[in-house]
Amino acid sequence: MKLLEYEAKMILESFAIPTPKHVLIDVKQEYIPLGIVFPCVLKSQVPVGGRGKLGGVISVHDESEIAQAISALSSLSIKGFLPKKLLVEEKLTIKHEHYLALLIDRSSATIRLIAHKAGGVEVEDNTSDEFLNLPITSNTVASSGRKLATYLGYDPIVTEPLVKNLYKAFVSSDSTLLEINPLIYTSDNLLICGDCKMELDDSAAFRHKQWKFETQDSNFVVLDKKGTVATIANGAGLAMATVDEVQAQGMSAANFLDVGGGATAETVLQAFKRIMTLGAVSYILINIFAGITRCDEVARAIIEARRAVPSLPPLYIRLAGTNAKEANKLLLDAHITTFPTLDACLKAISGDMK
Ligand code: GDP
Ligand code: MN
Repeated sequence: MKLLEYEAKMILESFAIPTPKHVLIDVKQEYIPLGIVFPCVLKSQVPVGGRGKLGGVISVHDESEIAQAISALSSLSIKGFLPKKLLVEEKLTIKHEHYLALLIDRSSATIRLIAHKAGGVEVEDNTSDEFLNLPITSNTVASSGRKLATYLGYDPIVTEPLVKNLYKAFVSSDSTLLEINPLIYTSDNLLICGDCKMELDDSAAFRHKQWKFETQDSNFVVLDKKGTVATIANGAGLAMATVDEVQAQGMSAANFLDVGGGATAETVLQAFKRIMTLGAVSYILINIFAGITRCDEVARAIIEARRAVPSLPPLYIRLAGTNAKEANKLLLDAHITTFPTLDACLKAISGDMK
């Protein structure tokens, strides 16, 4: 489960890890909340990175600019996501931006601490290999903190508690990834977590009854921005097989999407909306094999969602399993063609391509 920045920062705060002072705004609320200190930075809370480069982080100098900035961010779709919340943070004066992460390295069965001196939005362009990359355990947190101090050139008084608390937050939250980029060194000589990306292990949810995070469809993966066939399937295995079949027929799959068991009209609508952000899609392939899922529910969801997106490309649908007969009738009544097999869908797409 991927957390939004503000959710991840709430966890950091609860482990006494320094984050900027903030106020949270719901995009639906029609008033500007109290307590905003200017200048500030307004940040779109979408479950993807690279917001800075896509206009999702706006500096606001004074009160006269805030309403405009809120409305701009509320309607800015980033990689297909619209924010439900905006994070307003005190604007830090940056001396340096670093990269710091804890992650699980499955091949060595360890947690590793990775750092780079040059963090920020260009971090992926760092070609120098001077990363700090250490295995970290509860016995080595203090020495890792000191090594980070030496590497970044700071006093261990600052980095030791930071690393200790990050490690604690990582382990106690059953994280699989905790990435701070940028870790900001401010003009007041403080190290503050400017941004935080955190992923939690879904299988550990039973240990954390308090986990209540905004749900996101992390099951949508963009595969090829020039791909013409969008795919929707239920179950990761079927979704992968669907993508493979599209490719095997010499067509290009734009995305992978596993809508899971309970495909509601809202799920299908969100899927259609994300697909519409992929510029080259001309065909939408829906492949559902229903066991626990009920085909008639999926059919209703498709009908409702299609109504909401008028410019949707043509659908190529195969629904099999529980209540398929009823589902196919519903779709037929709504003038939506269905196909008996995936193969038949692919043949129809390839025919329409000619
Ligand atoms: P991302 O692009 O989605 O990773 O969003 P970030 O939260 O990392 O913000 C992108 C960039 O915005 C950062 O690398 C900073 O350069 C800048 N930024 C974010 N917060 C502040 C701030 O408080 N002060 C200043 N000066 N820059 C900021
Ligand atoms: Mn960032």
